Amino acid sequence: MAPEATQEDIDNVVELVEAVGGNAFVSRGVSRTIVGIVGDVDDFDALNLGSRNGVLQVMRVSAPYKLVSREHHPARSVIRVGGVPIGPDTLSVIAGPCAVETPEQTLRAARMALEAGASLLRGGAFKPRTSPYSYQGLGEEGLRILAEVREETGLPVVTEVIDPGHVDTVAAYADMLQIGARDMQNFALLQAVGRAGRPVLLKRGFSATVEEWLSSAEYIAQRGNLDIVLCERGIRTFETATRNTLDISAVPVVQRLSHLPVIVDPSHSGGRRDLVLPLTRAAIAAGADGVIVDVHPEPRSARCDGDQALMGPDIRELADAVTILSPLMGRTRVGPAADRVRSHTP
Ligand code: PEP
Ligand code: MN
Repeated sequence: MAPEATQEDIDNVVELVEAVGGNAFVSRGVSRTIVGIVGDVDDFDALNLGSRNGVLQVMRVSAPYKLVSREHHPARSVIRVGGVPIGPDTLSVIAGPCAVETPEQTLRAARMALEAGASLLRGGAFKPRTSPYSYQGLGEEGLRILAEVREETGLPVVTEVIDPGHVDTVAAYADMLQIGARDMQNFALLQAVGRAGRPVLLKRGFSATVEEWLSSAEYIAQRGNLDIVLCERGIRTFETATRNTLDISAVPVVQRLSHLPVIVDPSHSGGRRDLVLPLTRAAIAAGADGVIVDVHPEPRSARCDGDQALMGPDIRELADAVTILSPLMGRTRVGPAADRVRSHTP
């Protein structure tokens, strides 16, 4: 309440809150009175408390997400993707090409992913490109290629969906549905993947706060799907030396607020091949539950994001970094999944 608020103003606020079934607790300080209110936020919004006599400011103190919060679920969750665990005791590597281009390119990239120690294959069939003139992906043909490569390698598939109308089709081929940074607040899409019966990889929007990111996860959870893995992929800052700025502190911050696993995308964060290894090390040291990394057999001719794709000897270095650092962080590296999940079909 404002310093000059009268007793009548305070009583009026309490009455309004109680009239919609809320509870109001008045706490009087030397110079100011605060009214704490508990109840349905939508009902309180409708009261327009901010415009009432004597009210200085209305502040929300509880988070706008619940199901994904640690208050709701204190233990950290383990999400299984085609039998592969992602969670607090393991370090999972997801690797593959940015985009599916041809069956050969995808299979070669998947073999590189296995060599990198990956347990899941990434690859975009529907690409959310900033320019309409950039490569848009192979669509359903790309999904078929990913499914064939899964058969061949045993690697479960993570792939992006960009249209609510495509969710059922993508879910028929994929083991995990990716929501990209550009779609983090596409609420119709979030609700559609919430109903799809597949785990979801939710990337952070490049201008999204942690609270907005977790609120987007809540949209998925609210539709009955709590199999969500969060992915920090860099945010937009004033810095131009890198494609995005990896917000490494988001890893421990989000792990305190949410029980969902958090992985890091060092490829889209830095946008440069030479940064992938140092950012991977940083991610593991900061406590990430995994990393998702772009690899390509011939990055120079890649249709998408070739500059950030690992190739040749980089792959061994990545595998070594993960193998060496995981036990230091108390985690078991999740090995190539070939034996365990070869028979898996979604
Ligand atoms: C991707 O992973 O291919 C991608 C498009 O990433 P982001 O949504 O993080 O830009
Ligand atoms: Mn990309």
